[in-house]
Amino acid sequence: MSSANPNIRLFVENDLSEEAGFLIDGHQGHYLMNVMRMKEGEVVALFNGRDGEWMARLEKTGKGRAEVRVLGQIEEQSPEPDLWYLFAPVKRARLDYMVEKATELGASLIWPVMTRRTNVDRVKEERLRANAIEAAEQCGRLTVPEIRSPVKLERVLLDWPEDRLILFCDEAGGEGGQDIAPLGIAVKAAEEKTGLDKWAILIGPEGGFTPEERHMIRQHPQSVAVTLGPRILRADTAAVAALALWQCYAGDWQ
Ligand code: SAH
Repeated sequence: MSSANPNIRLFVENDLSEEAGFLIDGHQGHYLMNVMRMKEGEVVALFNGRDGEWMARLEKTGKGRAEVRVLGQIEEQSPEPDLWYLFAPVKRARLDYMVEKATELGASLIWPVMTRRTNVDRVKEERLRANAIEAAEQCGRLTVPEIRSPVKLERVLLDWPEDRLILFCDEAGGEGGQDIAPLGIAVKAAEEKTGLDKWAILIGPEGGFTPEERHMIRQHPQSVAVTLGPRILRADTAAVAALALWQCYAGDWQ
């Protein structure tokens, strides 16, 4: 058995099963052949979000391309946390960072939400998807988060699915004396009260939510306001903090 190169792990769309064979070309072929300088006979790990993870051997290589033959399964597809991550997109570099962190921290869906103070008007979805795939390959998860097209906050709230709660990270804290709880307490209390256990995390833009938006979000029957402490965090910091806390209290870090 040739040396397995465990740190090369690629997300592919192809079905993965014993003896399956297919071509890897394009940027992934370039990565294998030109960046990682792989040779015929070497082995990589492949996953597709459906069939678990499989080892595959490079059989016929060419310039920037390789025919692979699937060998054996390394890991069964197993359920991963179902956590949606909604955020007001920020500038390019931070946006790449936020998608990468949301993927590493187990978000199942990444959904840019346009709010009054969102300071970007377009989001390159293909770029976000590429970031999510790369982060999924690196962190070892068996799925790549779905990237949804940006939607206005009002519309998101209007069309909100009735089986999912919204963890509203509210930097303004309690509204009109309404108390606001730390995440762990709020999550448990809301699940008991509603009987729901599917969640989404909502993070605002650098400029924060407007008072009207804050009121609109709090009015939503499935929103749960939480504090991320006494300091005002940058949106990307808040994202990492909220995602980590959720995984700790309600996700797969338990
Ligand atoms: N510019 C605003 C803060 C926006 S921070 C201001 O100075 O008041 C960006 C987003 O991160 C906020 O909309 C909120 O969703 C989240 N956030 C930041 N700090 C937070 C905190 N201490 N508690 C809860 N959410 C917070």
